[in-house]
Amino acid sequence: MKTFKQIITAVSFLLVISGCMPVNEVNIYTSRHYDADDILYAEFTKKTGIKVNIISGSGGALMERLKAEGENSPGDVFFTVDAGNLANFQKEGFLQSIESQTIKSLVPKELRGANDEWVAVAKRARVIFYNPESVSEDEITNISYEDLANSNWKDRIVVRSSSNMYNQSLVASLISNLGVESTEIWAKGLVNNFARTPQGNDRAQLMAVANGQADIAIANTYYIGIMLSGKGGEEQRQAASKLKIAFPNQDNRGSHVNISGGGILKHSPNKANAEKFLEFLLTEEAQKHIVNNTFEYPVLDGVEPHQVIAQFGSFKMDKTSVADFGKYNPEAVKLMDRAGWK
Ligand code: FE
Repeated sequence: MKTFKQIITAVSFLLVISGCMPVNEVNIYTSRHYDADDILYAEFTKKTGIKVNIISGSGGALMERLKAEGENSPGDVFFTVDAGNLANFQKEGFLQSIESQTIKSLVPKELRGANDEWVAVAKRARVIFYNPESVSEDEITNISYEDLANSNWKDRIVVRSSSNMYNQSLVASLISNLGVESTEIWAKGLVNNFARTPQGNDRAQLMAVANGQADIAIANTYYIGIMLSGKGGEEQRQAASKLKIAFPNQDNRGSHVNISGGGILKHSPNKANAEKFLEFLLTEEAQKHIVNNTFEYPVLDGVEPHQVIAQFGSFKMDKTSVADFGKYNPEAVKLMDRAGWK
């Protein structure tokens, strides 16, 4: 004779295959390409029993997919890097406001969408890397982003192209603080100081400074963590060991901070699970996992960044709302073009 439990299991199975009983799952659309994220998803499933399905692609590809799926989209969570990318999805109407008080109490207001359409789960700073052999203490002490337009830096700076969202967000943050006119004058001065036409990714800029092709680079903090950890190979590890970080604007608003973050998709069929997933990313355990694998900074107070990043010291972070990066993105893109930033 079958036990009661066996009968229930058999009935549940029939309901699932006949489509009558929803599967306990969450569908995550992500443009993050970190192997470490897979471990996070597995841990979430272990903790909650909620199955995680990953749909990954570029931001553009995911946008096309969501447009095509419309109201029938199975997507629950959108997870990506850069507030500018989150804002683009928000502008398309793909996200809904997050209601979870847990999430809102953990993530400071300046690290969320204007109406809580998305929230940060990690932070990264876009700072100045320099080669102490070619840059004097005097030149670099108390440096600001604004200083990078000074003629002292002529032919000494490398940074990637203006098509890159990280740069667009940095410029948008300057627009938010200085206004369009001053930022444009600044951008023209900066472009005038480029050691070469922008090329390559952030790591390529750090390599250029280590190899003496330029004296300073603007890049995201976690890249030096990846390089120093050896994850990028021995050549990168050695190059990174020659570099130092200058955290800009410590005398005023602080260094530019951007985020990795997520939101709940508009037509989410598993909204409660989507909330649970975002809440999970903000637990101490998940935060530790994120910072130790991506070398980003935590959102949660009390969690330490990876040692390789922590060694550069703590610094004042700009509290400009990251929502402004999306707000001023169109202005930033036009301004960079006018300044001749390739
Ligand atoms: Fe990156």
